[in-house]
Parts: sequence; structure tokens; C-alpha cells
Amino acid sequence: MTDLSPRTLADQVLRWFDASGRTDLPWRDAPSGQRDPYRVWLSEIMLQQTTCRAVMGYFEKFTRLWPDVKALAAADSDDVMRAWAGLGYYARARNMIKCARIIAFERQGVFPTDERDLLELPGIGPYSAAAISAIAFHGPSAPVDGNVIRVLSRLYAIKAVMPANKGLVGEYAAKMLPQGHSGTFAEALMDLGATVCKPKKPDCPLCPWQGSCRARTLAQGTGQAIDFPRKAPKKDKPARTGWVFWVQRNDGQVLLERRPDTGLLGGMTGFPTSAWQGAEISPQRAFDAQGYGGTWQVLDQSVRHTFTHFHLHLGVIKVDWVEGRQTGFWCPLDEVRSHALPSVMRKVVKVVE
Ligand code: SF4
Repeated sequence: MTDLSPRTLADQVLRWFDASGRTDLPWRDAPSGQRDPYRVWLSEIMLQQTTCRAVMGYFEKFTRLWPDVKALAAADSDDVMRAWAGLGYYARARNMIKCARIIAFERQGVFPTDERDLLELPGIGPYSAAAISAIAFHGPSAPVDGNVIRVLSRLYAIKAVMPANKGLVGEYAAKMLPQGHSGTFAEALMDLGATVCKPKKPDCPLCPWQGSCRARTLAQGTGQAIDFPRKAPKKDKPARTGWVFWVQRNDGQVLLERRPDTGLLGGMTGFPTSAWQGAEISPQRAFDAQGYGGTWQVLDQSVRHTFTHFHLHLGVIKVDWVEGRQTGFWCPLDEVRSHALPSVMRKVVKVVE
């Protein structure tokens, strides 16, 4: 193992990126050869807690529909939410619209270049601010995502467990930061983590840092998997249960509702549900609480969905509505799918169909 200077390590990874970086990410092909701040920002918002693979199609759809920040700012919010449906974490989409309008209407379409100014905008947290500043403007920022944590935790064999190791990773990344090339450096680290220094099976023989990597040295000869970054034992996610109501009139229309703007799935369209809680309530009690008049049955199939913080199990109650409470709005059956339904509600459609 050779201990190299931060500068040499940065040069090595930049050379590797030049030859082997990912070329299939649509947000990297700005026509000018530079990164377009709008595309960088949009991709960073979409990539929050979401994989590149899941984002690509959405990114292409958004940039086709709204090729620049002014077009997105002028779009109807419902159209944007509809285009976002299925990507999850819907607060991101609402903040994205707010942010686009600030950039377009208050800043003449110009994004701030500085990490601190970017942080003031809706939906941009510390990681996204650092990534946008570095990638779009080569600002002096070193964004630290899961890939960067993994690669640098291995390179330096950092013993602290996640997320306590993040600060130290940030320090190492900042020391390597090549002046004027911070964006390329950020993308290089991300790509190295995504394509070579993979979580379960790193391809060390392809790595530009194979000669310096402490974790690799520690693992050699032991037959053990590379044990970095160190993780705290996993806590089980709690489980919640509830009931979702497929309420249908005799003319075939189905009851939909728009969820409140705040909270989980805020602002999204869905079917009425009971509260989602730890303790299960009977379908009779759930039905009575809704105030619908008509007959009902519990379907054999139910819906399971996992959110970031909990697992959800929804029983499905089909109601032949005759009278009574009808919050929300009626929608012809064949138009239900054209609404911006989040994934959990799409699963309900599948169960009923
Ligand atoms: Fe990751 Fe292996 Fe490279 Fe070390 S040598 S950084 S473990 S790919």
C-alpha cells in the first residue's frame, strides 16, 4: 500500500473519470459541454433518496416538457405533480415548483452559484447545495453522498460508523478538492462508487486507488468482504396498518380525494383511507367512520408498501356507494389512472382491477 498525497489521489481519480466515467446519464449532456445549472438542479432534486435508474425516465420527460427553469416555473402545478407521480417523496416536487418560480420570477432565471445561497432555496439541503455549486459552477464544494462515503471510508479505512463518519469523509474530500475542477471531481467520486467501489463487491483491480486503499489491504488474505463503511446495527422499521376505500357509484365513477398539502403524500390524489396506525381496527369500524351509505366488502388482496420510516399494510374495502358522505371528487373509472397517483395508490388500482 502506498500513502499518496491528496493531490495525487485527486489526479488519479480524475484521469480514471476521463476514461471510464458514466456516459449514459442524461443530465450530463449539456449542449455546450458545460453543465446546464437547470439540468444539474433538476437531477439533484430527483436523485434525492432515489436511484439514477429510477430517475432517468422522469428526467427525460421533465426536460422534454419543460426544457428550462422558466418553462417549469410557468407550468401548471397539477401537470407537474402528474408528471412526477410514481417517483415518490412528493414534498420534493412541491418544493421544486416553488424553487423554479423563485429562480424564474425573482432571479431572472439565474441560479445562485454559491452553496450558502443555494441553501436558502426551497428543497435544497446541504448535500444538494454542495452538488449543484460544484457540478454546475465548479464552486469550492465537496458533496458527500452515499457513494462518496463508501469510497473514502474504504480508502482511509475510517472506523467511525455511519452517519458519524460523514464529517471525516467530508474533510478528506475537501483536502483532495482540485481547484477549478470540483464538479468533475464530485462526479468522478460518485461514478467510482457507483461502478467500481460497489457496496457488496468492489472491483478493486479496476480502481485507480487500488495501490493506496487501506480497506483493500486489510481485507487481503482474510477472505473477508471489505467491511467499510461501518454501519450501526439496523433498527427494524415499524409497521402501520389501515384501510383504503374503493368507493364506486352505480354509474361507474370512483371517489378520489386530494390529500392535504402537508404530511405524507401531501397534495397528491388518492383514494380515501382510514388513519394509518400501529394498531389494527376492524373493517366495520373503519367503514362506519367514513359515513358512506351503501354495501361494502373486504377484498381478498391487500396492499403492502414501504415508506422511508415504516411498512404499511392496507386492507381494501370496496363500497357500492348509494348515499352519504362524499369528500373529494368523482372520477370516471377509465380516467382514474390518468391522475397523479402515488405508487401506493396505484397498487390499490391493481388490487381492484
Ligand atoms: Fe473501493 Fe477497492 Fe478502490 Fe478500495 S481499492 S476504493 S475498496 S474499489
